[in-house]
Amino acid sequence: MIRVTESLAQVYRQVANAAEIANRQPGEIRVVAVSKRHNQASIEAAAAAGQRDFGENFVDEAVTKITALADHRLCWHYIGAVQSNKTRLIANHFDWVHTIDRHKIIDRLATQRAETTAPLNVCLQVNIDAESQKSGAAPDAMFELADAVAQRSTLRLRGLMCLPKVRTDLEAQRKPFALLRQLFDELRQTHPTLDTLSMGMSGDLQAAIIEGSTLVRIGTAIFGPRPV
Ligand SMILES: *Cc1c(COP(=O)(O)O)cnc(C)c1O
Repeated sequence: MIRVTESLAQVYRQVANAAEIANRQPGEIRVVAVSKRHNQASIEAAAAAGQRDFGENFVDEAVTKITALADHRLCWHYIGAVQSNKTRLIANHFDWVHTIDRHKIIDRLATQRAETTAPLNVCLQVNIDAESQKSGAAPDAMFELADAVAQRSTLRLRGLMCLPKVRTDLEAQRKPFALLRQLFDELRQTHPTLDTLSMGMSGDLQAAIIEGSTLVRIGTAIFGPRPV
């Protein structure tokens, strides 16, 4: 079994190293520990080591964990594809959603999020490599989607997210992240409060941080390979 405390420290060192290369402050980059398919004990080990942000992809699995771990006061990020029949659970249990790519989902989440809780933090997902099988909307759809989120008081527009093709070469990894960063800067002209670029995973976090990522989503490097 992988030792979560050590691997977590290792990931924060990698983030700090990448920040140094990019001439940035490590504190500008938030690490979300992606705990999908890992058990509650693994999450508790990471929480005991000081980790606060956790990411999950499967709604039912996540709600069980969120409910069981409520006393830990963790921050939960939904990073899976959003199906309309799951929006109520997402609106009731999560703090963030990174994967919004259509108006119908914006309407449902905005209506279902209680007025009495903090607004749900939202990132729009961009299909940055234009892959037919992948979630996310086209770059030029972002402007209208952002306007729609910004109009809803129960949602808070935070930024953009992408999940590029797997590439191993650093220079090749940087390209889609640079494109997302460019789009983010354009969107900030009309939405100046945007502060989140959700990009980078275990295999490409250095490239993402060099290109301006403010939030990396790290699973394998913290928890080891996912159980099948
Ligand atoms: C699973 C997943 C991650 C984590 O991937 P690792 O390669 O294990 O770090 C990050 N983002 C999304 C959207 C994921 O589905």
